[in-house]
Amino acid sequence: MKKVVVIGGGLGGLSSAISLAAKGFDVTLLEKNRHLGGKLMQVNLGDAHFDFGPNTITMPEVFREVIRLSGENPDEYLNFIKLNTHTRNISSDGKVLDFSSDQEKMKDQLSRLDPTGAKNYESFIKEITRLYQLGSSQFFRKSFTSNTDYLSPGLGTAFARVRPLQSLHHFYRRYFSDPFILQALDRYATYIGSSPYISPATFALIAYLELVEGVYYTRGGNWKIAEAFEKVAKISGVTIRTDCRVTSIQVKNGKAVAVEVADGETFPCDLVVMNADLLAAYPALVEEKDRPRFSDRKAASFEPSISAFVALVSLNTRNKQLLHHTVYFSSDYEREFKELFVERKYPESPTIYISNSSVTEPEKGPSGDNLFILANAPAVKKESVRDGFSERYKELIYKTLEKQGVSINGQILEEKLITPEDIQSQFGAYKGALYGVASNRKKDAFFRPRNKAQDIGNLYFVGGSTHPGGGSPMVTLSGMNVADAIVREWNA
Ligand SMILES: Cc1cc2nc3c(=O)[nH]c(=O)nc-3n(C[C@H](O)[C@H](O)[C@H](O)COP(=O)(O)OP(=O)(O)OC[C@H]3O[C@@H](n4cnc5c(N)ncnc54)[C@H](O)[C@@H]3O)c2cc1C
Repeated sequence: MKKVVVIGGGLGGLSSAISLAAKGFDVTLLEKNRHLGGKLMQVNLGDAHFDFGPNTITMPEVFREVIRLSGENPDEYLNFIKLNTHTRNISSDGKVLDFSSDQEKMKDQLSRLDPTGAKNYESFIKEITRLYQLGSSQFFRKSFTSNTDYLSPGLGTAFARVRPLQSLHHFYRRYFSDPFILQALDRYATYIGSSPYISPATFALIAYLELVEGVYYTRGGNWKIAEAFEKVAKISGVTIRTDCRVTSIQVKNGKAVAVEVADGETFPCDLVVMNADLLAAYPALVEEKDRPRFSDRKAASFEPSISAFVALVSLNTRNKQLLHHTVYFSSDYEREFKELFVERKYPESPTIYISNSSVTEPEKGPSGDNLFILANAPAVKKESVRDGFSERYKELIYKTLEKQGVSINGQILEEKLITPEDIQSQFGAYKGALYGVASNRKKDAFFRPRNKAQDIGNLYFVGGSTHPGGGSPMVTLSGMNVADAIVREWNA
């Protein structure tokens, strides 16, 4: 039986571990934190419960598929609730657009807010469906491990047809004319941690997922996905060690031979799957001389996706105007992305996203709202943030929300702030990036670091910094894709 060590127990690592165990590999998973699931983490404050990380779930079938691979029945582990009208978008001047996978509801709202958009809505849905189908058939289910993977003729044709040269914002403008509607759609770029004014129109396929297939919530909290993966991994025979930080991968003659952890123990292995963020962990765990084609300089050349400033807040009141997901937009979105990516600073007037899962499951916030409040933040810079900045930024966010009628100050029972620096240190995320590499540059959008090391023949990568990309379903797919590639290469 071939021994595989998986470094990191995020969704990507767990998905690869379960898939490999199902295929007969002897799998050991090493995770530096006490919990599994990585950025998908449960946080409890007083009597309120929160999901940190993925609050918006799409493609639930992907998570079910991992469980099915192990021979277990997904229905016994996960119950996904579809939120038909899922996201309330509110403009800085108070206009409201509720995103829904009910197309009649969308057209009805658009006929008031953007008659051109209402007229074009069906052709818009048709085009984003086409983009999704191409993405799904040509990119999502493939791992990129060698040069030949990039040369398949089908891939080249598909690439030309996914609007790689048009920006997301420009694409939406073909169908919609109202600036607020455009802004609400442009926000999908943040799901890949990127700017709508630069990232390719290909990613309008995210709009397909939300506006056609729908947004889901996992009963009990989205962290239940991580809990289910952990249970299934154990049933499948994966050996799991938490609180176990990997400090190096030992390489001999171009092969990873063992993995060493903080207390000095070593795990000899035939193969290594690295789920820890590859831009941070590959340079940290493997000596530079053993990875000439992925030097420190090359690692530093990738642009990190945006990070986040998060406040988890439990209230003693319920704000009736909030849906499960609500977004309060700033008045100048272009400026916000310039601040995030060009000036690399916190937006002065941030767009604010709120997840309030107690709308769907009141027991998540028995005393009132359980608010996950997120403002986009720049990737971590070398200079540290000024003392007291987090408190001041939090107050700016609360004040902005109060102005929009969301009652917070004076109602707070518990509160916890999480900064980009926390995301960097807790999950080993490259510069605190939520989604690994940003998709602003064409090269990074379509040619992310590949799923296999070029210099080390038995080292594979899964997770947000590699193919097919960031976001909970994508990283889960990357785990399954890499397991398939390993089976093809090592188990034949
Ligand atoms: C605030 C926030 C909001 C988000 N919102 C959404 C959303 O709404 N929907 C969505 O789909 N996605 C969302 N995401 C993105 C999503 O969380 C990620 O894309 C996904 O969870 C990443 O999974 P991963 O397996 O690639 O990495 P991670 O979850 O980061 O897992 C990597 C694991 O490796 C471990 N590790 C690192 N270094 C070492 C080491 N040396 N030794 C051992 N272990 C190590 C880490 O501790 C971590 O557990 C959000 C993320 C954040 C932070």
